[in-house]
Amino acid sequence: MPSPAATLDSNERPTGQAMLRGALGRCPACGEGKLFRSFLKVADHCPHCNEALHHQRADDGPAYLTILLVSHLGAPLLLACYIAWRPSAMTMIWTFGLGSIILSMLLLPRIKGAFVGLQWARRMHGFGAEPLPS
Ligand SMILES: [Zn+2]
Repeated sequence: MPSPAATLDSNERPTGQAMLRGALGRCPACGEGKLFRSFLKVADHCPHCNEALHHQRADDGPAYLTILLVSHLGAPLLLACYIAWRPSAMTMIWTFGLGSIILSMLLLPRIKGAFVGLQWARRMHGFGAEPLPS
């Protein structure tokens, strides 16, 4: 049974709420069903409200934003750690290499979910294909 949020007027699609729901891995329409069917694969339809999610075209956007965030967090932190403690090169490579990978794996699905939520809320790429009431 669809939640009350899923039965909203089809014109009402709050962007911030949809992006937050997507970032939490939930359907941007109802906030209940899972957005992803695997790590980064978006489900074709919401299992809860049956909202079509296959219209999403996040493409490389989430990856670019993840790289931007991780590198802008990592580079100053790397410099600060080096100045403060002067660790060995191997310590720096292992800690910042693993830290970058872990942070990227944590951020990427959240950013992709937010992208899908934004596209859904803004009716991009077929999300708004249904005729709007006039
Ligand atoms: Zn849903």
